[in-house]
Amino acid sequence: MSVEPRTSNFAKGVLTIKVGIGYDVHALVEGRSLILGGVKIPHERGLLGHSDADVLTHAIMDALLGALALGDIGGHFPDNDPRYRGISSLSLLKQVMKLIESQGYRVGNLDSIIMAERPKLAPFISKMRMNLSRALNLEESCVSVKATTTERLGFVGREEGIGAQAMVSLIKVEDK
Ligand code: MG
Repeated sequence: MSVEPRTSNFAKGVLTIKVGIGYDVHALVEGRSLILGGVKIPHERGLLGHSDADVLTHAIMDALLGALALGDIGGHFPDNDPRYRGISSLSLLKQVMKLIESQGYRVGNLDSIIMAERPKLAPFISKMRMNLSRALNLEESCVSVKATTTERLGFVGREEGIGAQAMVSLIKVEDK
């Protein structure tokens, strides 16, 4: 019995598809800005972290790194490194994309979900998609950002923190 190859032959070349998942959580605290998908969202509290603590963008970076088994963002951008203090996570995402593209891959699509009890995120989703689309070199129709509450259950429901999950596909086409 033969084992199916992980690549497929096409007229123009050999297609390889990889997928990755990412998950992240940051605590909500006073005196910090709330940044999600590179958008500053008006709220009485923000997320605690070494960088801007953009939990959505962090989950996306981990999904990208995971797709190519390149470790996680903690390894690439240590939280004790002063270079990353207060840095925009979108700029870190662009660095991750350079790594992905240097291996010949581009992003096929992104799906993601933010878990937050408050504030209402619907008015900010389109700007997040635009920011992420630019950073990922991907058209917006392939960039999905969703948001949900957890019905007041758990740490999200108690508004102790905000979580995010992301899934990406990566595509590489090589000449035969
Ligand atoms: Mg994080």
